Amino acid sequence: MLYKRSSALFKAAKDVIPGGVNSPVRAFSAVGGTPIFAKSAKGAYVYDEDGNRFIDYINSWGPMLLGHAFPPVVDAVVEKAKAGTSFGMPTALETEIAELAVSMVPNIDKIRFVNSGTEACMSAVRLARGFTKKDKIIKFAGCYHGHSDSFLIAAGSGAVTLGTPNSPGVTEGTAKDTLLAKYNDLSNVKELVEANINEIAAIIIEPVAGNMGCIPPVDGFLEGLRAICDANDILLIFDEVMTGFRLAKGGVQELKNVDADIVCFGKVVGGGLPVGAFAARDEIMNHLAPLGPVYQAGTLSGNPLAMAAGLAMLKSIDADKGLMNRLDEKTKYLHNGIADALNKNKVTHTINRIGSMISVHFSEDAVVDFDSSAKGNNETFKKFFHGMLDKGIYIAPSAFETWFITDALTYLDLNETIAAVEAIAKDL
Ligand SMILES: *Cc1c(COP(=O)(O)O)cnc(C)c1O
Repeated sequence: MLYKRSSALFKAAKDVIPGGVNSPVRAFSAVGGTPIFAKSAKGAYVYDEDGNRFIDYINSWGPMLLGHAFPPVVDAVVEKAKAGTSFGMPTALETEIAELAVSMVPNIDKIRFVNSGTEACMSAVRLARGFTKKDKIIKFAGCYHGHSDSFLIAAGSGAVTLGTPNSPGVTEGTAKDTLLAKYNDLSNVKELVEANINEIAAIIIEPVAGNMGCIPPVDGFLEGLRAICDANDILLIFDEVMTGFRLAKGGVQELKNVDADIVCFGKVVGGGLPVGAFAARDEIMNHLAPLGPVYQAGTLSGNPLAMAAGLAMLKSIDADKGLMNRLDEKTKYLHNGIADALNKNKVTHTINRIGSMISVHFSEDAVVDFDSSAKGNNETFKKFFHGMLDKGIYIAPSAFETWFITDALTYLDLNETIAAVEAIAKDL
């Protein structure tokens, strides 16, 4: 495939945008080569500036659960835009999407909308600190909660891919309040809690991790965290920016039947526009300004275009009773096809999957936490990535990312993907 225009556009972008991109993982740093400049997308496909077509497994890093340019979302945004794009005043639409979100997600009474997943997680932690009057948080190595200072300690995916899991610019004062635990290791969490009695405001976790590949929680792990939090007056924050409205319409709380105290959303909730949200029971949410003392605000929060997109998306998910099952079946089909193709060619690998999230690791050991994820063979991944790209299959340019399955994928698309793996597997 030729990337002539993408190369030229990347060159021009680098002159005026750091690294040519507005978010680091887009830059292909970990895999080499030229990032592909998108021109348009429809359903399961993305088209680049050179006219190449790709079956898309990134899907804007998650939001496009129902495919690109999903008509109900596009129509809602176009319609709203004609009536004004921002007011800085409350709108009826905000209540409508809030009511729907509260009805879909278990265990929440109120929700506040922000502009990104980063903002949602950052605000959730501030709220937890204000509510518990404690300072420290526990996060898990390899989990990503956006780029706010407290979270750039062993952050997954983008940060790891670039070799900067701990970013310069985060002060020691901030870093000391973030305690680091091992994913899927309850005894490690217990030790940290015992060593910091009455100091921990919250445990924040991706209840199914998606930023070190896809790593589901082992049996009892989330329940164990719930129990530790209950016993120690700690709030449990589920960062469902990736999993919310994706793994079940009520997210991992519903899927695993474990209650969180605060839940963060992003990605799917905005249907492809910049939206995040955080939600909790009344007693916690009422601590937020203007009701309570914890400050949080946003000029464009609840923006009408963003809310129109989000509402159309959530309505479609809510109404489609067969959706989650269909996504599960498609992902399982892909999993089996890829595994067969790699096995036939004796390529060492491990595939993790839950619902519509799947990741392929070039490693023979089980991938259950950051350390085991980092053991994957990166040279093999690079060859795999470029081989797939050349066959018109676009997966994330990092071994630490999950593939996002969209309902727009047909079984023909899945077969084309599996055929691509078969064609390149002998060279891996
Ligand atoms: C993407 C992501 C975020 C950050 O969301 P942004 O909208 O990129 O700020 C936070 N948490 C998780 C789990 C994510 O996957």
